[in-house]
Amino acid sequence: MSRQMNRVRCLVLNAALGPLDYKVPDGMRVELGQVVECPLGPRTVVGIVWEAERLPGTDVPAEKLRNLRGLYPIPPLPAPLRRLIEWTADYYVASLASVARMALSSGGALKGPASITEYRLSGGMPERLTPQRQAAMEALEGEQATIRELAGIAGVSEGVLRGLVNQGVLEPVEVDCDRPYDEARPDFAQIELSDQQREAAGIFSEAVRAEKFAPFLLDGVTGSGKTETYFEPVAEALRMGRQVLVLLPEIALTENFLHRFEERFGTAPVLWHSSLKSTERRRAWRSVSSGEAQVVVGARSALFLPFANLGLIVVDEAHETSFKQEDGVRYNARDVAVMRAHFEQFPIILASATPALESLQMAESGIYAKVELPSRFGGAQLPGIDIVDLTEEKPPQGMWLAQRVVDGIAERLERGEQSLLFLNRRGYAPLTLCRHCGFRFQCPNCTAWLVEHRFTRRLACHHCGHATPSPAACPECGEPDCLVACGPGVERIADEVAERLPEARVFVATSDTLNSPGRAAEFIAAVEAKEIDVIVGTQLVTKGFHFPELTLVGVVDADLGLEGGDLRAGERTYQQVAQVAGRAGRGSKPGEVLIQTRHPEANVIAALAAGDRDAFYSAETEMRRDAGAPPFGRWASIIVSSEDETEAREAARRIGDTRPDVPDCMILGPAPAPMSLLRGRYRYRLLMNARRSVQLQDVIRQWLGRLDHPPGVRVAVDVDPYSFV
Ligand SMILES: [Zn+2]
Ligand SMILES: [Zn+2]
Repeated sequence: MSRQMNRVRCLVLNAALGPLDYKVPDGMRVELGQVVECPLGPRTVVGIVWEAERLPGTDVPAEKLRNLRGLYPIPPLPAPLRRLIEWTADYYVASLASVARMALSSGGALKGPASITEYRLSGGMPERLTPQRQAAMEALEGEQATIRELAGIAGVSEGVLRGLVNQGVLEPVEVDCDRPYDEARPDFAQIELSDQQREAAGIFSEAVRAEKFAPFLLDGVTGSGKTETYFEPVAEALRMGRQVLVLLPEIALTENFLHRFEERFGTAPVLWHSSLKSTERRRAWRSVSSGEAQVVVGARSALFLPFANLGLIVVDEAHETSFKQEDGVRYNARDVAVMRAHFEQFPIILASATPALESLQMAESGIYAKVELPSRFGGAQLPGIDIVDLTEEKPPQGMWLAQRVVDGIAERLERGEQSLLFLNRRGYAPLTLCRHCGFRFQCPNCTAWLVEHRFTRRLACHHCGHATPSPAACPECGEPDCLVACGPGVERIADEVAERLPEARVFVATSDTLNSPGRAAEFIAAVEAKEIDVIVGTQLVTKGFHFPELTLVGVVDADLGLEGGDLRAGERTYQQVAQVAGRAGRGSKPGEVLIQTRHPEANVIAALAAGDRDAFYSAETEMRRDAGAPPFGRWASIIVSSEDETEAREAARRIGDTRPDVPDCMILGPAPAPMSLLRGRYRYRLLMNARRSVQLQDVIRQWLGRLDHPPGVRVAVDVDPYSFV
């Protein structure tokens, strides 16, 4: 900006407010994208200077304008990022403010250069070593953080730690909040690549050098070395001084990824995920926006970081549904990432062994370039897949594993190899009921049964977190010892293995047991050291792991995912089973996969058994085409909720009654949502299904924009929904 602005229009980070105009005081220089302090009544709100012509508002006469209060000491949000914010708000029918807030996702970052005091063990001993102090000191070995964070790590009060500070056991360290990260070196190590990897890497690196928008689908079978392949274009971007973003689905389980990254580039990448400490968050954010952070590895929220000089995005495991955000702005990070690459003109790589049908369709129609890695690295073979028909091979009474699966595990035990049992259900049993009166334990806040967790002796809701100790007697009829667990969760399967194969060392791998990077690292180390024979795990173990001694994968219930009956159920089941099957036989020993099912004739099961991915995808494609479903048609849901049942129903009815009559657009509902009560809110849904030619978002905005609702009513729009509960 050469012209100095003396009045500006600001997008303020408060969805309830429209754009606001301010006067630029003498001596203050502002640019578009600048983050500014806006006076609002007696308060100050954060605003972003925006192009006035792109942000329609009422023109306030100059003499009525208030002065901007100041500038935050961070670089302006670049124009392409502002366009991305606009696009996201427009496409997902969200407010600009709520999308912009995802870009300014570290409050601490706005404060400018700073240092903080952290503490670490000094090596000294306290005068009096109480058991509590001793436990705290053991927990803090190797840690350095603020008192509050250390208290969290050690599980003691801040007072206990302050006592240790006074005695010199903990010593203060002054830390520059913005100290630079170690440098990632593009040529730190050369990794041996197969011919097919080298060829693919060459294509990507060339695209990085071209500095133009180029979307790729990296379609590689499990174990083909996709990560090592895309590390090469990452290196190329680094050589050119460009930043790189790698989006991963499950940030807690990236130990393996980080290790490989470090081996290739000589240092860890900059991390971005929800459990970062606020100081780490601030440091990462500022370093991204200054252009200093070279490679950021993060969960979906990293997508909106204000990179100064981004030159490549990789979305790994791009088919994963966790890239879809299900609250607030309901965006799909995979799709928005492609738009970011488009706005900023650089290549993007979507990597997967089981691509989403939408991505395959984009490749089919020539919009994405497809790059394939058809074989496993190092000559490892894809595992053989067999079906176990549970209607014929019935497990013993009260058990869930067919004899063939148990025999398979026993064989591995004898050979010193490992097995993995997959069941996508945490806890011991999904439903508990009273044998005497039929009472079922239900969540008071949700339309959901409470799941029994035996490890923690609790009944818990997996939707809202409500938990209660497992009672000894039925709360309804008071009968003792009458509660029965119905159906299996992973804990119950682990019990069954322990009962039928007492010598096996079993580990349950779920988000309950692998709830921190440290725990995950311990788990990996234990498997590698062969201290675990049988892993029983949820979808957490379906990806990213590379255990050469793991030669048997058993899918406990392949039908589970199909029961929900939503449109993507088949695809999700295929992806999940194919991914978990891909954990078998990744070393020199061949792998075997046994899939337990009651429906061997189902499309998806038959395709898995035959290893015929193309057949599955083409049947699935036809089904979607017939249903006018994505990618051939468009969907959006409208979810109306309130803590008051009547209020929710009334609001949904008003919305239903005012539905527009649009050609090629069908509007279903309102109907009570399958989860008609969720986290204490009553819910109703409407579903829109339209042809691609319909301007769905405009229809929704005009329709909903006319309506007012009581303050307790929330109306959420979900464009391209993944969840139908
Ligand atoms: Zn009872
Ligand atoms: Zn609940």
